[in-house]
Amino acid sequence: MKKFLWIILSVVLVAVIYACSSVALTGRKQVLLYSNSDIMALSEESYKEFAQTAKASTNTALTQRVRVVCSKLINAMNNYFISAGQENPMQGLNWHIDLVQSDEINAFCLPSGNIVVYEGLAKFVDNDDQLAAVVGHEIAHAIANHSNERMSRATLSESIQRTILTAAQASGRVTDSQLAVFNTALGLGSQYGVILPFSRKQELEADRIGLIMMAIAGYKVEEAPKLWVKMAENGSAAPPEFMSTHPSDVNRINNLNKYMEEAKAYASK
Ligand SMILES: [Zn+2]
Repeated sequence: MKKFLWIILSVVLVAVIYACSSVALTGRKQVLLYSNSDIMALSEESYKEFAQTAKASTNTALTQRVRVVCSKLINAMNNYFISAGQENPMQGLNWHIDLVQSDEINAFCLPSGNIVVYEGLAKFVDNDDQLAAVVGHEIAHAIANHSNERMSRATLSESIQRTILTAAQASGRVTDSQLAVFNTALGLGSQYGVILPFSRKQELEADRIGLIMMAIAGYKVEEAPKLWVKMAENGSAAPPEFMSTHPSDVNRINNLNKYMEEAKAYASK
């Protein structure tokens, strides 16, 4: 029993020591097990797949408007990281902005820098500030390496699970039925205990970073909670990107209000 606990502890320690980094702007520590090139390659692959079926919007005015908002956020953040002398998490990303034909209220940004906004979302927002709130949130996931972190956590929890089961079997002290129960419990534990709560945390962190980006780029941060109120009132209007593990609307709005002053302070930096 002791032996396999040491093995697990070693796996966790090695991962934490060698793969620990900090999220830009929030300073939260995270474990990243995958290289940037791995993430870029996976990301480019998913974009290629998406692009096979997606149709570019023919609304040139709306496309232009989306491109201006996205570019303003990207340029402002690049300038911020350079002038603050901080490591630039946006370096090396291949920014590409698409507005696609779809009534869905949705948007996403792949870790490679591919930003996709759906026409439905561009028409749903009341102003450019609200558009910046959504796009800022999406770019924040890329800046904060959330995909890498998510995959790393899944890999880590899977390997810990496998180690525990192998060691338990090798010790011969557990029956097959006990093992099955143990396995189920661990499966549930890794799904609900590690991955999902963390994803909610990432969503709230993306909201916080998104607010800071809005402030730095000169957008009105007060429009972000207004957009979430509008989405909550609309019920089914919440974009799928936010639906999977998204925090409740109340949590999200409280979180945005909590970080409002912090974001505003960036406007003068
Ligand atoms: Zn998100």
